[in-house]
Amino acid sequence: MGIHPQCLVCQIEESLDHAIFQCYRAVEVWRRAKFPMEILCHAASFLQILGRLAGSSQSRPVAVRATYTAYQIWLARNALMFGETVPPQRVVVERARLLAMEVLQATHLDGSLIARDTWGSTSARGAPRMVFFTWEPPPPSFLKVNFDGSILQGGERGGVGFVVRGPNSSVIAAGGFQPFDISVPGAELRAAWAGLRYVRRALQARDVLLEGDSVIVIGWLSQASGGVGDYHPLVRDIRSMGCDEMVVQVRYMFREANGAADWVASSVANHSGDHLWVGEAELPRALHDVLLFDFLGCIHTRYA
Ligand SMILES: [Zn+2]
Repeated sequence: MGIHPQCLVCQIEESLDHAIFQCYRAVEVWRRAKFPMEILCHAASFLQILGRLAGSSQSRPVAVRATYTAYQIWLARNALMFGETVPPQRVVVERARLLAMEVLQATHLDGSLIARDTWGSTSARGAPRMVFFTWEPPPPSFLKVNFDGSILQGGERGGVGFVVRGPNSSVIAAGGFQPFDISVPGAELRAAWAGLRYVRRALQARDVLLEGDSVIVIGWLSQASGGVGDYHPLVRDIRSMGCDEMVVQVRYMFREANGAADWVASSVANHSGDHLWVGEAELPRALHDVLLFDFLGCIHTRYA
């Protein structure tokens, strides 16, 4: 994620690897938190190691603490970038430790409670096993469009949001608006449509990976034709956008790794007007905060 061209601490080129693992400030946090730096150089290997650690109940606490440490490093870095008060490293370490402890205690007391939250009541039986997943950057030459629809409590207003990212995970654009159609599938479809229209018109995209967290909508969009989705005009519109000049692949993603699009949808539901942020420098602070959680996935909330 090349959010800012330069790290404000080290004055060298910024990247996700730099911000979380290699920056002087980050290294100091990992050292204080007593994580061996040899295993913590790159996001890719970090995620692999995290996946392994999360797989066994003995090492799971380490995985959870490492996730929160990365996240707190990210929040501290965003604070620096946005000119806010930057917490000292020992505070960053302590916040991560407390959050990890909270999560571990909650899952220890009643692992199935959290599982029920995300999976529904029937699939939460048996010993909890952590499933590790993460938002993945698109393959080279692809743009990834994450979309989400959100309906506010009471159902009077909704929001649709999309986030476009490139192969290096950097955010190219994000946007959304309040839809006329206040139904969940309607808002989801409108979000997919808005994201695809943007990458086609503004970016002349050729290869697009369209990713959402609604099983129903992804099902409609991935059927060539012949299903309930055929009768929805937006489904037809979206399918016709993926034709000659633009190839669209559709994929389902867990809600926890669709956090950026979800943030945009919820945010625009509360603010009228059209919203479009182009380039990472334009993104709101709170959206920056969410981006890393997309990348890390959310290892503590989903059990199988
Ligand atoms: Zn740095």
